[in-house]
Amino acid sequence: MTQTAPTPANQPSQPTPSNVFYRSSKVYPLAVRGEGVYLYDSEGNRYLDGSSGALVANIGHGRAEVGEAMAAQARSLAFVHGSQFTSPVLEDYATKLAAFLDLPSFRFWAVSGGSEATESAIKLARQYHAERGDTGRFKIVTRIPSYHGASLGALAASGMGARRSLYLPLMREDAWPKMPKPDPTLTGEADAERLRAVLEAAGPETVAAVMVEPVVGASDAALSPRAGYHERLHAICREYGVLLIADEVMSGMGRCGVPLAVRLTDSVTPDIVVLGKGLAAGYAPLAGLMASAEIYDTVVGGSGAFKHGFTYAGHPVSVAAGLSVLDIVQREGLVATAQERGAQLLVGLRDLQTIYPQVLEVRGQGLLLGMVLGDPATGKAYETPGLAERIAAAARARGLITYPGSGAVDGVRGDHLLLGPPLNISGAE
Ligand code: PLP
Repeated sequence: MTQTAPTPANQPSQPTPSNVFYRSSKVYPLAVRGEGVYLYDSEGNRYLDGSSGALVANIGHGRAEVGEAMAAQARSLAFVHGSQFTSPVLEDYATKLAAFLDLPSFRFWAVSGGSEATESAIKLARQYHAERGDTGRFKIVTRIPSYHGASLGALAASGMGARRSLYLPLMREDAWPKMPKPDPTLTGEADAERLRAVLEAAGPETVAAVMVEPVVGASDAALSPRAGYHERLHAICREYGVLLIADEVMSGMGRCGVPLAVRLTDSVTPDIVVLGKGLAAGYAPLAGLMASAEIYDTVVGGSGAFKHGFTYAGHPVSVAAGLSVLDIVQREGLVATAQERGAQLLVGLRDLQTIYPQVLEVRGQGLLLGMVLGDPATGKAYETPGLAERIAAAARARGLITYPGSGAVDGVRGDHLLLGPPLNISGAE
């Protein structure tokens, strides 16, 4: 098999006719193999996975030992329903995950994807307050911009107008108050203080939780927290009896060079931490949440059950993948590698900024990096398709996968490109 970057002449195409419901009308290459940081298509073209898909493939592609762990699990115990059994692999994983994240007394709730996980967090926050007799608390405060998932609750929580607008009739807007975009001219503390006004306007006694992405991903090009921001946010939440949920679906599990990005600058333990993507690094659908012992005891020790569930929650084969991935991340020191390679990539991206004024800003943490793009004269995004989409298409044609943001988000300047190769990428790659 030749291993060349694709050119327009050897761009592969999806089969026609096909029964596949493709996501869009564009032509998709037929991916047939993954190895290390590379993906290969049916024509032998090689692509460097510069975005780990959508910031998922943290340990790279084609790791046989993960496949073997999954096969062994499927052979011994493929499925049990969470209302009937737990499993050794789930017990083992929850313990190791809590230790890795330094959330020692937290409980792990396993689901199949990030949207299921944020939905679970939202419902858990609501039930937690109800169990305490505080039944008036249901609102979830989030930030603009933010992305918490595609299912209706997670989407209602998301501060991303472009993805929500079609479904607004299905959402009760007052249930999802929004904080304004973080203001870099303020100190972290002063910025977090702006939560107070949002809570007061919403009626603090009606708010169940505040949910934030510690490093913003799909909606705002790896926007990073400033010192004091999360600590103050948590303090205000406590003051008002509101839970703090850290959505670390993209930023967690070492992606940002630390196990949890909420602790990049502050020493904070949120009430709920939501995880996904890098958890099983793409080898199986696995996401979940970590809930404090206080929340678990109040809910499960209260009415007796979390009133929520998915058929595939805690699927043993997915959890076996997660366990094997976590072992690799720890054994190979990939959290530290994310920091080193991230620093290297940041230098390269900043070089681009000196050549192309359309790169308005380069930022991020570890291997969750973003370039904000736009017209240097106005700082605004170009017309659709944005510059990010065009760069992503051009890069793909040359054998590099990136993750473009979908044009200007809610009038926020620029469109953007996320970069985040597997954490085990080498310096040369
Ligand atoms: N939360 C965050 C921060 C995300 O970045 C995403 C996906 O990009 C989600 C939630 C939703 O995850 P999923 O696409 O696995 O449902």
